[in-house]
Amino acid sequence: MLTVNAYAAPSATDPLELTTIERRDVGAKDVLIEIKYAGICHSDIHTVRGEWGEIAYPQVVGHEIAGFVTEVGSDVSTYAVGDKVGVGCMVNSCRECENCRAGLEQYCIPGNIGTYAGVDRDGTITQGGYSTHVVVDEDFVLRIPDAIPFDRVAPLLCAGITTYSPLNHWGAGPGKKVAVVGMGGLGHMGVKIAAAMGAEVTVLSQTLGKKDDGMRFGAHDYRATSDPATFDELANTFDIILNTVSSAKLDVNAYLKLLRLDGTMVNVGAPPEPWPVQAFTLFGGRRSFAGSSIGGIQETQEMLDFCAEHDIAPETELISADQINDAYERVLSSDVRYRFVIDTATLA
Ligand SMILES: [Zn+2]
Ligand SMILES: [Zn+2]
Repeated sequence: MLTVNAYAAPSATDPLELTTIERRDVGAKDVLIEIKYAGICHSDIHTVRGEWGEIAYPQVVGHEIAGFVTEVGSDVSTYAVGDKVGVGCMVNSCRECENCRAGLEQYCIPGNIGTYAGVDRDGTITQGGYSTHVVVDEDFVLRIPDAIPFDRVAPLLCAGITTYSPLNHWGAGPGKKVAVVGMGGLGHMGVKIAAAMGAEVTVLSQTLGKKDDGMRFGAHDYRATSDPATFDELANTFDIILNTVSSAKLDVNAYLKLLRLDGTMVNVGAPPEPWPVQAFTLFGGRRSFAGSSIGGIQETQEMLDFCAEHDIAPETELISADQINDAYERVLSSDVRYRFVIDTATLA
């Protein structure tokens, strides 16, 4: 076992604090990663606060991980010491179900093993990236291209793939009109990626406060959803609406009416309450209301390579570990442009 520094939640209500945790010995198929950067995802906050179900404490979260390989197991074939690598939202899956065999480990039927707060094969609880090191099976490790700034790459491992996968699946590209709802950590990646895929991108945000950013990220249009005219003018327009907002208060029927024939509204935000979808809104225009969860390992690698090729990186604010609790408050009040990344050197 390896004892490493980490920033952990001691309970659902106490602030996160510096502590040590144990990492398993490096197995035959494992790599030991020295973590350099870890992104802060809204899911981290929901999880440590017990909002998505009870968890065991202390818990280390973080599933946007970038670092270097510092040790490899005897059967590791893909990675070598010194490689620049990443880990996203999952660290294992059954590998046998039809979805795993199709490379869609995120939809593993018995369930993939989350990077944190999951039950690992040895029965221990997985501990995430707010830490100096992590041990991961090589099959769930990604290669980080040199072209992406290392201190900004981590959010691609969750926010990047969460937006890339549905855009890819529903065919965002030249001739397609894509609306991105919400301009936060997920939304800003959705804009950059959809624009790089060649789609015509419109941002639908509550206000025009981030319009300059949105246009700089590649949007062709930027509309305020607080203005009712937006919903009249854009009716029957989009092929894809990527909804990154995790509020059940969002009037999904109003958004569905913005879809043109056969359009799809795909949701990647997870509100605690159900959405009130009206059947007749779906019937008119043969519309689809869909969801999507991260991406498989192969597709995540494809996303990283796509971002390298298209000069895409998340917009980030680098913080030290002792700023994590303040950063959580700022995430909750949408006061971040657009993702916090922890410099794990400050965990020493
Ligand atoms: Zn996440
Ligand atoms: Zn499976």
